[in-house]
Amino acid sequence: MTGQNTTKTPSDREVAPALLKGSLCKCPACGTGKVFDGYLTVRAQCDACGEELHHHRADDAPPYFTIFIVGHIVVWLMLVVEMAYFPPLWLHIALWVPLTIVMSLAMLRPIKGALVGLQWALKMHGFDPNSREDYPAGSDKVTS
Ligand SMILES: [Zn+2]
Repeated sequence: MTGQNTTKTPSDREVAPALLKGSLCKCPACGTGKVFDGYLTVRAQCDACGEELHHHRADDAPPYFTIFIVGHIVVWLMLVVEMAYFPPLWLHIALWVPLTIVMSLAMLRPIKGALVGLQWALKMHGFDPNSREDYPAGSDKVTS
């Protein structure tokens, strides 16, 4: 045995920093450029380092995780307030509907950024420079 292990190579893209950079809406590769062009539109490429970001396939995952997190927080708060103060129904509506909307809008963008960072770190959906995924058949984009 020479000690060489060719089946396991260390990743050049760490997941945790990519998640953090993405959740800050920064490029997962350099941490400087912006991920988004607008509220939720992912830039085709980073304006600082040129990393291609159009490979992401966040799809329905950001709203799913947003609903999951916001739902657990708001429902828990609603139950705690109900059990402690027994407020009238109109007060529940006045509290929880705006809180749900604000929290959802505030969390959707960083969650989507984190998912783009995760996909980049795991080299999913064309983020792998050796993959031909995301390119039309016959494209020489990867080899050029
Ligand atoms: Zn970048």
